[in-house]
Parts: sequence; structure tokens; C-alpha cells
Amino acid sequence: MRRRLPVLLVAIALGAVATGSLHAWVAYTAARWPGGATMTLNRSSVANVSASQAAAAIQTAMSAWNNAGAKMALALSGGDTNANQIANDGVSAIFFRPDSNGSAIATTYAWWYNNVIIESDIVFWNGGRVFFAGSSGCSGGYYIEDVAAHELGHVVGLDHSSFVDANGQTATMYPTTGQCDQNFRSLSSDDIGGIRSLYGVGSSGTGGTGASSPPQITSPAPGSTLTGSSQSFTWTAGTGASELWLHLGSTPGGRDLFEKGLTGSSITATGLPTDGRPIYATLWFVQNGAWQYATASYTAAASGSTGTLMLTSPAAGSTLSGSSQTFTWTAGTGATELWLHLGSTPGGRDLFEKGLTGSSITATGLPTDGRTIYATLWFVQNGAWQHANATYTAFR
Ligand SMILES: [Zn+2]
Repeated sequence: MRRRLPVLLVAIALGAVATGSLHAWVAYTAARWPGGATMTLNRSSVANVSASQAAAAIQTAMSAWNNAGAKMALALSGGDTNANQIANDGVSAIFFRPDSNGSAIATTYAWWYNNVIIESDIVFWNGGRVFFAGSSGCSGGYYIEDVAAHELGHVVGLDHSSFVDANGQTATMYPTTGQCDQNFRSLSSDDIGGIRSLYGVGSSGTGGTGASSPPQITSPAPGSTLTGSSQSFTWTAGTGASELWLHLGSTPGGRDLFEKGLTGSSITATGLPTDGRPIYATLWFVQNGAWQYATASYTAAASGSTGTLMLTSPAAGSTLSGSSQTFTWTAGTGATELWLHLGSTPGGRDLFEKGLTGSSITATGLPTDGRTIYATLWFVQNGAWQHANATYTAFR
């Protein structure tokens, strides 16, 4: 039996002129990606900035969606593509075009079949328009990261939203943006609610590839705190994936801590730091003829911690639910003198500081600007002050 061709096409442009009605997030199709989408940048098409600068900006925008706590993930292929047509050609391409499309800054196109999105292309309209990378130096143009964050919201299946928060910040899926604006790169609660509703709540971390299932790290659970300087990692094999490598780094995509080709079903990384820093894992693999990757992040074991006393809720790495947040912890063995510090810097206590009794405490007056919040749980155990760390993202 012959397969019918997918024919549905949607073109959604990010405009420079205000339109739209007052409503929160909506989906433009009932179709969904099966787990995630891997996109490829046409590197030679990139204008105004270097291809690696553009790739980094797009990668960061993908991370914003991947950190939204939904069961889908976006990945940028490590490869290149010469795809420069708006076409269902088997490559979900991102390319710049020295052309204009009305007032549109960029446009996302999507194709789906039954209830499965099978491809999406993003065009940055570069005719008479300047794009910038990073977060400074913009003049009379647009930051790639912010435009990409918006277009990637279309890629996952979201349409425009007219949501504006109490501080006057528009949702990332707001239909228009201003020159040099940087508010799209941080998702609003409306955007997060949208992707979570479309894909369900869960940990992200796999760059899906449509019908094929990608390898992914299964243990330790993404978002968890490592148990010491030595840590065993396991993964799923995926469908037809080969050339698996595990990188562990102190920065997203980094490999300063560990780098090794994978065979078998587990590997033990040794010599890992025990200072509570974030550790970023990247699982590289070849699938469907291209290098792709899945990510997960962890918290390094805390120095001096016995590992028996830990913050248990909210989960390390998660986004807080508002300016008021309840924290719970495990009791530990013979641990006394518990204190919770919350700070804007590692080990800081500028946001909250209180001795703990009972089994939970509610911190109030926390910032709601999306900053990283560092929690330090101090305690006396075995006659010495020790601590356990966790990081969170402030609500916004
Ligand atoms: Zn749009």
C-alpha cells in the first residue's frame, strides 16, 4: 500500500507590526513531534555573524525550551546542510535568506502527517535586515537568540500568544518584537504552560529525530545530584544509532571533565568535581547519517556532604513556582543545626537564610526574574559543619 503524502503546511511569520487578539498560548495543529526535533543549520547561509555564533545562539534558544520541563526536546545537529528551500525535503533546516517577506523577521514552516510533525524549516529574512549574536552590540536589528526562541516555539507546535505578564513582559510567542529586544529568550509562564500542555510534564533531554528513537541518558536521572567523584552512567541504545560518545563539562556542551567513546551499556566517569557545580552531559551519536546529541544536566556532589542529607523538593534544577516556595529535605543520620541559605550566587544567602525545624519551610519574597538561585543546606554531622547544594531557576 502506498503511503499518502503529507501535505499540510503552515507558515507563521514573526512580524514587526502589532497584530493579534488577547489570548494565551494555542497550538496550531493537533500534531506533535514524537519526543523531539533535530534541526540543522545551513552554515554558509548565515549572514551578519559567524556560523558558529549563530549556532550558539540557536542552541541557547533551544535550551530555553528544553528546560521548560516538557517531555520533548529540540536539538541542533552538529552537521551542516545546504538546504535553502522551504520544502518538505527530509531536513528540518534553519537558514538565512537575503530576501524579504513583508514585515516578517523570520518564518517557521511545518509539515505533519496524521498526528505527527515530520519536518519544520525556519527562515531568517535577511533582506535589508541585520541580525546579531550574543546579548550586546545590537543596533537597528534583531538578536538571533530571541528570534530563534520565538520560531522554535512554532517548531514545537505553538501558535502566537498575546500573553503579557504583570511586569509588562510579553510571552516568547507574542506575535511581534522590537529591534534589539531580548525578552523572547526567556520563556514566560505562558510559553512554559504551552509546551507542557502539548507534550506533558517531564524531564527533557533527548533530541528526537522523528520516527527514530534517539539514544538518551537514563541513569543517573537528569537533574539529580551525583553521589561522588566517581559516577556510573547508563543510556538507551536508540534506533540505529552508532558512534556514541559521552562528554561531561562545566558548561553546556563542554567536555573539560570527561570525554569517552561508549561501548557496552554503562561507563564510569572518575575524577569528577565535588563542589556542587552544575555538570552538563552531552551524549553524541550518529543517527540517520548525521551527528546528533542528547543532553542532561546534573549537580556535582557537594564537598563534605555525606550524601545522606539533601534537599528533596523542589527537584534540583527545576524552576520555582513563584515568589513563595516550599522546600523539603531528608533528615540525614544524626544531622543537627540545619540552615537553609538561598542566594543569587553559589553559597550566597542574599535571598533567604533561616534555621530549619520540622520537615519543610516556605521561603517568601523570592525574585521572579528567571535568575539562577543557589540553595545551600548547612548542617552539623559527625561533629563538623557540612553542606549540600542545589540550584534552581527563579520563576518569571
Ligand atoms: Zn511567530
